[in-house]
Amino acid sequence: MKAVVVENLVKFYGKFQALYNVTFDFEEGEIFGLIGPNGAGKSTTLRIIATLLKPSKGSVKIFGLDVVKDANKIRRIISYLPEEAGAYKYLTGYEYLEMMAKIYDPKNYSEYVDFGIKLSGLGDRIYSRIGEYSKGMMRRLLMARALMTRPKLAILDEPTAGMDVVYATEIRRLIKEVNREGVTILLSSHNMLEVEYLCERVAIINKGRVVALGSPDELEERYESENLEEVFTKLVKG
Ligand code: ADP
Ligand code: MG
Repeated sequence: MKAVVVENLVKFYGKFQALYNVTFDFEEGEIFGLIGPNGAGKSTTLRIIATLLKPSKGSVKIFGLDVVKDANKIRRIISYLPEEAGAYKYLTGYEYLEMMAKIYDPKNYSEYVDFGIKLSGLGDRIYSRIGEYSKGMMRRLLMARALMTRPKLAILDEPTAGMDVVYATEIRRLIKEVNREGVTILLSSHNMLEVEYLCERVAIINKGRVVALGSPDELEERYESENLEEVFTKLVKG
């Protein structure tokens, strides 16, 4: 089944057009990447798919559900990691995961918390206050929150942005691990080389338009390039 189908998506912020007929789709089980430079329209697209922002035109379906008409149903089966996210500084990581899990499922929350703790990789630091966490630890906690409920679709906006190499590698491993457990992943990145390792297929987006769509291998072959950065450079120059 298709996890996400985006068709001719248009988004205006006032008079400014951020998205021009964005079209792509991917299957359940995939890790799909939306890549492009800052300002390309990645976050806008992800926020629409996450039902946080309304499309101006076009259609977006998540597992057959419509982002406008079926927003509440969609919110039960997805999770969303915003680009700029913080969490309650005065709680411990543990308390934060517990609070979020209770909102999701007041009866069975503890199994999600247990899984979240494992996913976070924070060890005993899960009992420290979030205010004491480094940026990398905070990001891992938020990733754990996004993934602990094993959503059908996890939408991750720049999951490794601002991360050092060690943390970024761990986050990528985490993404692969939950994907093997059945979580479909849609992520964005301005780091085209990282996406190469993670994603089966990608959409390259520039100035609100999808300029290429396919597996990294296909795109490199089609544009006679060594990597996706080179593909992108050729696309925007040509
Ligand atoms: P990306 O995530 O690829 O960096 P965004 O989707 O955040 O890109 O932004 C796409 C374009 O839309 C940018 O030109 C940005 O300035 C503009 N934009 C984003 N959010 C808003 C907003 N709330 N109001 C007006 N313009 C916005
Ligand atoms: Mg963004």
